[in-house]
Amino acid sequence: MTEPPLQRSLWAATASPSPPCPPLAGEVEADVAIVGAGYTGLSAALRLAEAGARAAVLEAHEPGWGASGRNGGQVIAGLKHDPDELLALYGAEAGRQALDCSAAAADLVFELIERHAIACDAQRQGWIQAAHRTGSLAPLRRRYQQLAALGHPVEWLEADQARALIGLPGYVGGWLDRRGGVVQPLSYARGLARAALTKSATVHAGSPATRLARQDGRWRVETPAGAVRAATVLLTSNGYTDDLWPGLRQSVIPVYSVQVATQPLGHNLARGLLPSGQAVSDTHRLLWYFRKDAAGRLVMGGGGSAYARDLPRLAAGLRRRVQGLSPELAEVPFAFAWGGRVALTRDHLPHLSELAPGLWAGLGYNGRGVAMATMLGHVLADRALGSVRPRFVFPATPLRRIPLHGLRGLAVSGMRAYYRLRDRLER
Ligand SMILES: Cc1cc2nc3c(=O)[nH]c(=O)nc-3n(C[C@H](O)[C@H](O)[C@H](O)COP(=O)(O)OP(=O)(O)OC[C@H]3O[C@@H](n4cnc5c(N)ncnc54)[C@H](O)[C@@H]3O)c2cc1C
Repeated sequence: MTEPPLQRSLWAATASPSPPCPPLAGEVEADVAIVGAGYTGLSAALRLAEAGARAAVLEAHEPGWGASGRNGGQVIAGLKHDPDELLALYGAEAGRQALDCSAAAADLVFELIERHAIACDAQRQGWIQAAHRTGSLAPLRRRYQQLAALGHPVEWLEADQARALIGLPGYVGGWLDRRGGVVQPLSYARGLARAALTKSATVHAGSPATRLARQDGRWRVETPAGAVRAATVLLTSNGYTDDLWPGLRQSVIPVYSVQVATQPLGHNLARGLLPSGQAVSDTHRLLWYFRKDAAGRLVMGGGGSAYARDLPRLAAGLRRRVQGLSPELAEVPFAFAWGGRVALTRDHLPHLSELAPGLWAGLGYNGRGVAMATMLGHVLADRALGSVRPRFVFPATPLRRIPLHGLRGLAVSGMRAYYRLRDRLER
């Protein structure tokens, strides 16, 4: 897959600058080597460095170059499963761990932003999951009720309340999760990198890991101009995972998601749309999510394809959808369109796996990684440190290749066509 450049995105145009991250040169020793400088790898590096461990991050491009610098910036607590589903899937103890860990993920993001003074336009006004048709209300209500029973700060929204908060017609209800919020995603990634560097981690841009091997009881990770020798290695390459470790790439399905952003909306339009600053995902089967940025642009995401070449077509479809939302939006000019890879898993859960002694991977956030990747980075760091009493634990599962992985392009296209048809029929 040829990757679209990060520079096309709204976030690259408006982000705080990256800290200097020179490529790795020569042979270095570390306690933990980390492959990939997105939220997972950078959050792990920060946690390790704060604990006094020597962490060395290797990034093929630059910090935040992957999904972490391209996403919608919606900070969402929890996973795609209801709490009772997590308990059923993992069993009581591991289910509880997954539940607690994912529930605290958004808190962790805002805690790190505050503790390390990360300038990333963070706002915590909540995240809304909105029903676009009455048939979608029941599953939303079930999730809301389960979260409310667990004491989380969630509120049910009747149709008029949902419409008032979103500022668009057509929504028939939903729920508001006060734990959620928004960030400028690339600034957040760069801020994590800066914080990790301040705590004495090293972050090497332009340093793709090309070979990983065991040597004299330690791991050796090679890049074109150097190598890191470390007791532990964390693979945190998510949708950009290559063949560095056999089978890891085949454990996820990389899918391109696309984003479009308008020019800053006029004062009246901006005041009427998402007036309180929440982020929204709705219940279309072909997921649709939106928010405003700090300058009042509407940023909308959705779609999905296995092929980068489909991004312009997906972006055009998204623009049409925005223009159809209200007469005011019909004329609004667009300024940016870009895309990036999310990593899907078969069970729609993130996977934390020990691939070999001292070699861990954390990936597969299914498009919900701003909070959860930050959290799994933290969890991976605790595993690497051998923390006796880690603050968060996420259940580890064995690496599983997805059967017929070579046919993923067809599968994604088929699924997309099916979802589009269901959305049309249910309209
Ligand atoms: C368009 C889009 C919108 C999204 N919107 C949201 C949202 O609003 N809310 C939300 O919660 N989630 C969202 N997501 C998902 C979220 O962005 C990801 O789950 C999260 O960023 C994953 O972080 P990561 O660090 O695991 O991976 P990434 O950020 O993808 O980082 C992986 C890094 O690994 C590097 N790499 C790969 N192989 C190697 C190698 N061999 N050597 C060195 N480096 C390597 C890559 O260059 C890349 O920088 C969205 C994703 C996309 C693409």
